[in-house]
Amino acid sequence: MSRNEIRPPSNRPTPKTYFSISPIAFVETAKLRLAMMQKHLQDVMKAELKAPDLVCTYCKQTYTTLEALALQNAQGMFECKDCRVELTRNDSKKDSAQKDLAK
Ligand SMILES: [Zn+2]
Repeated sequence: MSRNEIRPPSNRPTPKTYFSISPIAFVETAKLRLAMMQKHLQDVMKAELKAPDLVCTYCKQTYTTLEALALQNAQGMFECKDCRVELTRNDSKKDSAQKDLAK
């Protein structure tokens, strides 16, 4: 039985690449990144609007954000169209959306 020699971590320096980016290219890259982020946010928001997002604690009926907007009362709260109970956010779905954002 032979033991493998434990080697010290290599001291090889990590290669660093230095870019010389012109300010214009930098701005374009930043713009592109921003556009990609906005696209991603839009996708998340679209999914948010489609999926049931609010739930009535009383009758357990779920509403999408769009549906809930139509049910908004004078106090700015969303209420169930059947029992007038304030809707609460569907938290399980919210968590998954946040995970998507963190990717
Ligand atoms: Zn209800």
